[in-house]
Amino acid sequence: MTHPVTVTHSVDGDGIGWITFDDPASRANVFNPATQAALRAAVEALAAQPVRAVVVTSAKEKIFIAGADLKWLGRLEDAAAARAASRAGQELFALLDNFKVPVVCAIHGACAGGGFELALACHWRVASDAPATVIGLPEVGIGLIPGWGGCARLPRLIGAAAAVEHILKAQLVPAAEALRAGLIDEVASAAELRERAKAAALKLAAGGKPARATGAPAGAAFFAAQRKSALTRLRGQPAPLAVLDAIEQGATLPLAAALDLEAALFGDIAAGEVAQNMVHVFFLKDAVKKITVDAWFPKSEGAPAAAPAPFRKIGVVGAGVMGSGIAQWCAARGYEVVLRDVKPELLERGLGVIKALFDEAAKRGKLSPAAAAQGWARVKGTTELAPFADCDLVVEAIVERVADKQRLFAELTQVVRPDCVLASNTSALPIEELAATATFPGRTIGIHFFNPVSRMPLVELVLSPHTTRDTAERVLAFAKQLGKTPVICRSSPGFLVTRALFFYLNEACLLWEQGVPAAALDAAMRDWGWPMGPMRLIDEVGVDVTDFIYGEMAHYFPARFRAATVCRRMLAAGLKGRKNGASSGFYTYAGGKEAPNPALQALAPAAMKAMDARAIQDHLNGVMIAETQRVLDEGVLKSADDADFALLMGAGFPAFRGGLMRYARRTGRSA
Ligand code: NAD
Repeated sequence: MTHPVTVTHSVDGDGIGWITFDDPASRANVFNPATQAALRAAVEALAAQPVRAVVVTSAKEKIFIAGADLKWLGRLEDAAAARAASRAGQELFALLDNFKVPVVCAIHGACAGGGFELALACHWRVASDAPATVIGLPEVGIGLIPGWGGCARLPRLIGAAAAVEHILKAQLVPAAEALRAGLIDEVASAAELRERAKAAALKLAAGGKPARATGAPAGAAFFAAQRKSALTRLRGQPAPLAVLDAIEQGATLPLAAALDLEAALFGDIAAGEVAQNMVHVFFLKDAVKKITVDAWFPKSEGAPAAAPAPFRKIGVVGAGVMGSGIAQWCAARGYEVVLRDVKPELLERGLGVIKALFDEAAKRGKLSPAAAAQGWARVKGTTELAPFADCDLVVEAIVERVADKQRLFAELTQVVRPDCVLASNTSALPIEELAATATFPGRTIGIHFFNPVSRMPLVELVLSPHTTRDTAERVLAFAKQLGKTPVICRSSPGFLVTRALFFYLNEACLLWEQGVPAAALDAAMRDWGWPMGPMRLIDEVGVDVTDFIYGEMAHYFPARFRAATVCRRMLAAGLKGRKNGASSGFYTYAGGKEAPNPALQALAPAAMKAMDARAIQDHLNGVMIAETQRVLDEGVLKSADDADFALLMGAGFPAFRGGLMRYARRTGRSA
């Protein structure tokens, strides 16, 4: 099979050579061996002609060049193959750097990783100011290092300290910011980009390649501080340390030797387990964009002919922590929202939280002030149920009590339109139990948002045995419209995340009750890669919520869940964690400083028990693995990848470990 031509070239009437990336088979240009061969052919063809300068550009609307094709990178066999791939890319881009005439890069759309390394090898960079244009080297975010000249060329362009900062942040930046940081030389409107790039090319053709001062080096103290910070902030990840080596040592070498060093480091990193894990996570996230409900419904139910009707107006019941978060997020995404609580003062408190969230989003630049004002104006508060009459979807986020939720479902059934979907945000209760009072069980479903709604991307969409395909499709489309990443599961107590997480937290509490100190438990799990240890997480979630969910788990899994008692005893002693103004739990937080809480001594066992970090990690991770395996065996989720994705996005599982069940398979802890 011949691969379609992905890079073309031409020469215009003014003697400017044009190299255009445009893979006809894709919305994005990416680098793989075929694209590399096509670029080489284009460069060689122009080298054989009398051109005055060259412009490299792309014909894509949104993606200039997305970087290397990760599927291809993932197939590289070992460090030697990865190193050779790095050398091949570097040598290709060196053809541009060493081209007989100046080369200008005209960037419109995302210019990431290998795409920006190509731009760095050009002599001048102009980018469009379109919102789609974002630029940078995000490789560290997927466990890699820039390996096609990024580590060697960026510090020479903008200085070592700025290059380290940019590469370790692993984020793409808009054109204006890229200009300020020195990543590019000019910004033009999208309409004028080609013209401006050509003008730059003609100017360089007349004056020669620009002379640039070599970026400032950084001292040993800077690199030592960066290494220290990477070892804590980016714990467990070798790529940031390799970037620091490449830049520190590369600064003292000629460019060719710095590129050699970069290729050697890239080879080791790309072939390593962490990079493979993080690339795997990248693909898990990508796959979620294409998720459908097909696997959950028998073929006979068939997909509806027309796209499901989108929701317009959303009702939210309960203006507490979750209800106000859900209402704000929906309104920010353009939905009309009506929020209900039982008492005016509770409603006012919830509306105040929503207003503050909008103010905060505007302050942080996440929403423009106008968009924040419009979003806020879309929220209406009520203490009645009547305003739910014209809602397309109602999400209940009231207290976690079956009887209350059943009563509410019965009341809502009386008020809403016959096509309205009723959803529960319960963290653990089976949907069919709550919705038993609804007269149209087919239109009931769980939408489990996570706290805080504005920051947590995961939602578990929970199908009861009665949920219809149409309902599931409408809610899936809604979740995607909200910008959330959904995982679909079958209704079962605790779904996946609550169940796996609280079995794990409970086990940590049981170890604590045997005398293992909270600080030892937390340090061990943090060292393994979790963003915080289990006891600290309980303080964050709330000792009350944790104890409540232990009760739920013990109720639904009486044979296997023996609830620890420490949380109940802490509540009796007034220790609620770090929530709603409370500031003491397993730790105290006075003055923003975390310290072991001396008040817990009265609740702790008389004798302490030593347990080494490895044993703690194996034991606690093992409990989570075992419970997740049960969830899979019971068919609550369709695949181990779904479980891995949900725990990565909903429980903070460390990405560099690749996913809980992937880790379990690799280490022989599961089938
Ligand atoms: P919350 O106690 O902060 O808020 C509940 C609110 O519901 C209260 O303001 C209460 O007055 C109101 N309420 C009770 N009955 C009502 C009714 N009939 N009509 C209108 N309002 C009513 O609770 P929360 O933490 O927001 O949790 C709400 C739900 O979300 C629970 O099912 C919980 O399990 C689930 N959840 C909580 C979290 C979390 O971290 N807090 C995360 C995910 C899911």
